[in-house]
Amino acid sequence: MKKHNFYAGPSILPQYTIKNTADAILNFEGTGLSLMEVSHRSKEFVAVMDEAQQLFKDLLKIPEGYEVLFLGGGASTQFAMIPYNLMKSKSAYLNTGAWAKKALKEAKGFGEVVEVASSAEAIFNYIPKDYKIPADADYFHITTNNTIYGTEIHHDMDIDIPLIADMSSDIFSRPIDISKYALIYGGAQKNLAPSGIAFIIVRKDILGKMDRHIPTMLDYQTHIDKGSMFNTPPVVPIFAALQTLKWLRDQGGIDAIYKMNVDKAAYLYNEIDTNPMFKGTVVDKEDRSLMNICWVMAEGYEEYEKEFLDFATNKGMVGIKGHRSVGGFRASTYNALPKESIEALVACMQEFKSLKS
Ligand SMILES: *Cc1c(COP(=O)(O)O)cnc(C)c1O
Repeated sequence: MKKHNFYAGPSILPQYTIKNTADAILNFEGTGLSLMEVSHRSKEFVAVMDEAQQLFKDLLKIPEGYEVLFLGGGASTQFAMIPYNLMKSKSAYLNTGAWAKKALKEAKGFGEVVEVASSAEAIFNYIPKDYKIPADADYFHITTNNTIYGTEIHHDMDIDIPLIADMSSDIFSRPIDISKYALIYGGAQKNLAPSGIAFIIVRKDILGKMDRHIPTMLDYQTHIDKGSMFNTPPVVPIFAALQTLKWLRDQGGIDAIYKMNVDKAAYLYNEIDTNPMFKGTVVDKEDRSLMNICWVMAEGYEEYEKEFLDFATNKGMVGIKGHRSVGGFRASTYNALPKESIEALVACMQEFKSLKS
């Protein structure tokens, strides 16, 4: 049976990425050696790193003055690297979920952290809109897509202090105006590559302003100076990221993939909103994520939750169980997920309704 992969992360990747990476693991660029056993300083791998950084910049239209890094440690290491490099004494965070909260927690070791707003009281089912960003904070941190709760900030904010964004689960899903951000980062395993790397887009002029000693590996400047090769980089995820970037280019780039994402999400949200057995957890439509779509059984149908999960699982749906903090269901609809998978899920939801009513 065909499997439809709705996992939140690690998650679906283009077949193009998987096949080319598998081939390179057997024989990398005709070297007769595996990608896993060649020097990261070989001319073949250096070319991979250079092309991945360049294509990353081209696809996102990254302006002059920014650098792209691929580093180990995932998004979670960035939670600490950001204040280490950028927080003198005060920073501001928008608390939109568990990841935002983890980022905020790391900053507390570096001074005063202002939580400008939080939607914790409603299990993070909306994006707070009414808040003031302290003008004297060193930066303002947001999580643009809240993977667990299915909320997303769809616009690029215009603010007066450096804006920092965790885009782990929505990078490359929609056009962004990079010039509005001082730093963007994320784990690769949601929309780009297998786990093992974080991507970082950093505007170079924000660096070099701290008095504190920054450990070498945690200093962005170290990795800028060495082109993400200060130490041995995770070569397989970086090779795979390059394949996904090439695939994205072949799809028509970000504008084209964005259109597909809007179309895919609308198809599933429409079913959630019109099928009486289900209801969306994110009420405000402008806050609904294009990448992680969350819903629960509607009132009166709660008892069918487990039964629907089993029903859909038996029809090939994988990874639709909601996060334990939200319950219900979550379908992650990343770039590589074909519309066909959404259609199959919607068909399950309709069939289940006709069985039960
Ligand atoms: C998955 C995720 C993370 C954590 O990423 P790691 O690479 O596992 O550290 C952080 N932020 C968001 C928004 C995520 O979805």
